[in-house]
Amino acid sequence: MNNRYDVTIVGGGMVGASLALALMPLGLRVALVEAIPYDSAAQPSFDERTTAISNGSRRILEGLGIWSAISMAATPITKIHISDQGHFGFARVDAQERGLVAMGYVIPNRVLGAALWRRLPGVALKASENLTVYCPASIEHVAPGERSCRLKITVGPAQSELESQILVAADGVNSVVRQAFGIEALVRDYGQTAVITTVLPQRFHDYVAYERFTASGPLALLPLEGGRCTLVLTLSPEAAAAAITWSDAEFLRELQQRFGFRLGRFLQVGRRVTYPLSLTQAQRTSAGRCVIVGNAAQGLHPVAGMGFNLGLRDAACLAELIAERYKEGTWNLGDSGLMAAYDTWRASDRDGIIAFTDTLVRTFSSPLRAVQGLRNFGLLAFDLLPPAKSALSRLSAGMATRVPKLARGVRLV
Ligand SMILES: Cc1cc2nc3c(=O)[nH]c(=O)nc-3n(C[C@H](O)[C@H](O)[C@H](O)COP(=O)(O)OP(=O)(O)OC[C@H]3O[C@@H](n4cnc5c(N)ncnc54)[C@H](O)[C@@H]3O)c2cc1C
Repeated sequence: MNNRYDVTIVGGGMVGASLALALMPLGLRVALVEAIPYDSAAQPSFDERTTAISNGSRRILEGLGIWSAISMAATPITKIHISDQGHFGFARVDAQERGLVAMGYVIPNRVLGAALWRRLPGVALKASENLTVYCPASIEHVAPGERSCRLKITVGPAQSELESQILVAADGVNSVVRQAFGIEALVRDYGQTAVITTVLPQRFHDYVAYERFTASGPLALLPLEGGRCTLVLTLSPEAAAAAITWSDAEFLRELQQRFGFRLGRFLQVGRRVTYPLSLTQAQRTSAGRCVIVGNAAQGLHPVAGMGFNLGLRDAACLAELIAERYKEGTWNLGDSGLMAAYDTWRASDRDGIIAFTDTLVRTFSSPLRAVQGLRNFGLLAFDLLPPAKSALSRLSAGMATRVPKLARGVRLV
C-alpha cells in the first residue's frame, strides 16, 4: 500500500489544519483528510464568525508561520469589561495594568482558514514530501488496529485506503473517528442558542471587549476594525428563532435594552446566524492509536471564548510530544507512552477550562436570587482582587499548567 502515514489527521478545521502545519516541518509522513474545502460557504469551522484568541494562541500561530497573514485583520483587545444586567457589580481587566500590549485579539474565522490552508500543500490529493491533503474527502470506514489504523475514504470518484500509525480525531463535536474508537461523549444541552452578528455602535469601542450577563443568557461584544463589534447574543432557542426574523430596528432595540448605552446607540446590524449551545466532553482524550483534539475532545459554550484556544493547545502539545519521539528515534508513534503523556498533559488544562466555562454559564443563567447576589458580590470581589485577575488570565491563557513550546514562542525543530 502506497498510502502509509505516520500520522493521519481527520478534520482540517481550525485545530486539525493547525496541527498539520505544526507537524509539517518534522519530516514525518502526515495525511490530512477534510470533508469541505476551506473557502466553501458550507465550511463549518471557517465561517462568518470571529474568534477571540489569547496571547499564547497568537504565539502558536506565529510559530506556524501564519500570524503575519492574519495580523492585518486582527483587532487587539486592550480591556475586558464584565457586568451583570440589573446589578451594580462589574469587573475590569486591563492589558496595560498587566504589562501586556493586548489581552488577546479578535480574528475573522475566514481569514484564519485562508491563512492556514494557503500554507498547506494544495487540495485534492496534492502531496508535498511530508504532507498529503485529501479534500474534499468523505470517510467510508475507520478500522482501529493494534499495529496501525486503516481508513477508507472517497475523494471525488476514487476510493483510497490509508494506513496510519496514529489517527487524530479533529473532526468536530460529532466526531466519527471518536465514535469508531468507542469513546463516549457526555453532552449537556444548555437550552441556549447564540445569535451571532456584527453591530455598529455610535461610540468607538476603544478596543474593549464587553461580557454582559443578562436574564436570557450572556451577551458578548468584541471589538472589530472600523468601529464595528462582533455580537454573541445568547437567547432561549425560541427567542433566537424569533430574533433572526426581527427587523433590524427591532433587533437593535432589544440589544440596546440588554446592553444599555455604554457605547451609545447601536446604529446598524449585519446578517444574523444561530448556533445551539451545549457542552460535549469526550470521556477520554485517546484510545488505542487514536488521539482526540479540539472540538472532538471538548465542545464548549462560547461564553468565555476559550474553545479554540484550548483546542490549539491540544494541537501544540500533541505536536511537541510527537516531535520529541521523532528526535529520540522512537518510531512506534502509536505506543501507549505517547497517548498516556498526551492524556496527562491535557487533563488539568482541559478540566480547568471545562469546569470554569460550565460554572460561568450555570451561575450566570440561574434565576435564583441567592445565586444572583453571590455572583454580584463575586464580580465586585474579582474587580478588587488582583490575584483573582492574574489567576483567571493564567487559566484562560493555558498558563495554569505546563505551557507547550509553541505557546512560549519556542520552535519544535
Ligand atoms: C458561536 C461560537 C463562538 C465561538 N467563539 C470563540 C472564541 O471567541 N474563542 C475561542 O477560543 N473559541 C470560540 N469558539 C469555539 C471554536 O469555534 C471551536 O473551539 C473551534 O471551531 C474548534 O475547531 P476544531 O477544528 O476542533 O473543530 P471544528 O471547527 O468543528 O472543525 C471540524 C472540521 O472537521 C471537518 N470534518 C467533520 N467531519 C468530518 C469527516 N467525517 N471527515 C473529514 N472532515 C470532517 C469539518 O468539515 C471541519 O473542517 C466559538 C464557538 C462558537 C459556536
